[in-house]
Amino acid sequence: MTSEKPRLVVATRNAHKTAEIREMVGDRFEVLDATAFPGLSEVEETGTTFLENATLKAVAVSQGVGGLVLSDDSGLEVDALDGRPGVWSSSFGGEEGNHAKNNERLIREMAGIAERSARFRCVMVLARDGEVVADFSGAVEGRILDRAQGEGGFGYDPLFAPDGHDSSFAELGSEVKNSMSHRGRALQEVMAWMEAQG
Ligand code: IMP
Repeated sequence: MTSEKPRLVVATRNAHKTAEIREMVGDRFEVLDATAFPGLSEVEETGTTFLENATLKAVAVSQGVGGLVLSDDSGLEVDALDGRPGVWSSSFGGEEGNHAKNNERLIREMAGIAERSARFRCVMVLARDGEVVADFSGAVEGRILDRAQGEGGFGYDPLFAPDGHDSSFAELGSEVKNSMSHRGRALQEVMAWMEAQG
């Protein structure tokens, strides 16, 4: 059976990002990601800002895939670490995509530090046929916990409590996380832009 929903291709191989985006827009779009297109080559994230990397990913994937392509570049900025890990969030622990090592390093670097404010930031870029169409951003303020709390979510979620909560994103569950997260906020802008296009 073919889907009647319009297709939205997300320029990522991160299944967690895809799952969150699908959960947020799944009733309006058939959400696919780069893993559905085996011919696509890996996009090197050589930028030094979220916008540069989100642009690289959206432009590259939209050269190989028809229709609108959406990218997500995101990360955690910790004030006491001068904004690190930032765009290097996924390899902070020394190994790309190893969330356990990333979290271990964050706990270690934050040991004994009282100032624990931080934010998740997300930049999304829409591209078509290798050209940028629009960009969007979202952020959520919070603080870094002393130790991992909860099993849900991914990445730094067990160590991040959004403002107004003592629980981590990993404990709050996907519905609460999506309603206030950096990714959720950026995606709301994307959806508003799409609705305005008609
Ligand atoms: P990117 O794939 O280069 O955008 O790297 C994103 C990295 O930022 C992830 O691997 C995580 O380490 C971190 N990150 C981004 N969004 C989230 C989130 O929603 N929860 C936890 N960690 C996140």
